[in-house]
Amino acid sequence: MILAAKIFSQKKAQKMFLTRAISDCLLTLSYPQSCAICGRSVEERRFGVACEACWRATRIVSGTEGMCWKCGLLSEADVCRDDVRCGRCEAQPFTAARAIGPYEGALRESVLELKRQPYLPLHLETLLLAAARRQPLDQSTRVIPVPLHPRRFRSRGFNQASIVAQAISKGLGLPLDDVSLVRVSSTEKYRAGLDAKGRRDTVAGAFEVRHPRLVANEDILLVDDVFTTGATVSACSEALITAGARKVLVLTISRALL
Ligand SMILES: [Zn+2]
Ligand SMILES: [Zn+2]
Repeated sequence: MILAAKIFSQKKAQKMFLTRAISDCLLTLSYPQSCAICGRSVEERRFGVACEACWRATRIVSGTEGMCWKCGLLSEADVCRDDVRCGRCEAQPFTAARAIGPYEGALRESVLELKRQPYLPLHLETLLLAAARRQPLDQSTRVIPVPLHPRRFRSRGFNQASIVAQAISKGLGLPLDDVSLVRVSSTEKYRAGLDAKGRRDTVAGAFEVRHPRLVANEDILLVDDVFTTGATVSACSEALITAGARKVLVLTISRALL
C-alpha cells in the first residue's frame, strides 16, 4: 500500500515535471510575446502574459493594508488587525481568505491565461508563496485545490487550481492533496444573472470529501484562481470542516472587486 502510494506519487511528480517542461518549451518558442495589456513586448518569461511595467501598475496586497481579517476584503482602515470584520462574511465557514490582489491588470490576465495553459509563471508563483507565508495562512498543514467536476476536467485537460496548489505545496514543503476533495455536481458556478445567494445555492453541496482521514485535524490551505463571492470556497470549506478539518485557510490569485 505504502509502496503503491510512493510509486503513484513518483509517477505523478514525473508527470508534473514533464507538463512544466513541455509548457516551458512551448513558451520559449512563442517568446518574445506581446503584453496582454499594453501590447509592448514582455521582457522576461517569468512575468507570463504581462510586461514588467503592467505588473508594476497592478495592485498587489502587501498584507499590511486595512482589510477584513476573515475574508480579506480591503477596507479604509489603515492597518490590518485581527478584530476587523466587513460584516458580510460571518456565515462563510472558512477561517480566513487572502488573495495576491484584486481581479484587474496583470493578475486578471494571468488568471485568464492559466485557464488556457497549465503553466504558472515564476513571478506569480513568487507572489503566491509570499502570501501563503504571511499570517494567518502560514499555519496551514496541507494544500488542497478547489476541484473541477470530472467532466469539466476532461474537457479542459487540467485543473488550474491544481497548477497553483502544486507550486505552493512544493514551495512551502507541505503535502499536496488533490484526491480528498471532489466535486460531485457540475453546476456552472458563474451562471450569468445569479446574485450572491443564487451562487451560494448553486454550489452548496457540490463538494464532498472522499478521504476524511486525510483532512481530519488538518489546517487546510484551500487554493483557487479567483475569489468572487466566496460561494465556491465556502462550499468546499463546509465539506472539509464536516469531514473533520480544523481550519480552512483560503488563498486565491485574485479577488473580485466587491
Ligand atoms: Zn504591458
Ligand atoms: Zn469579510
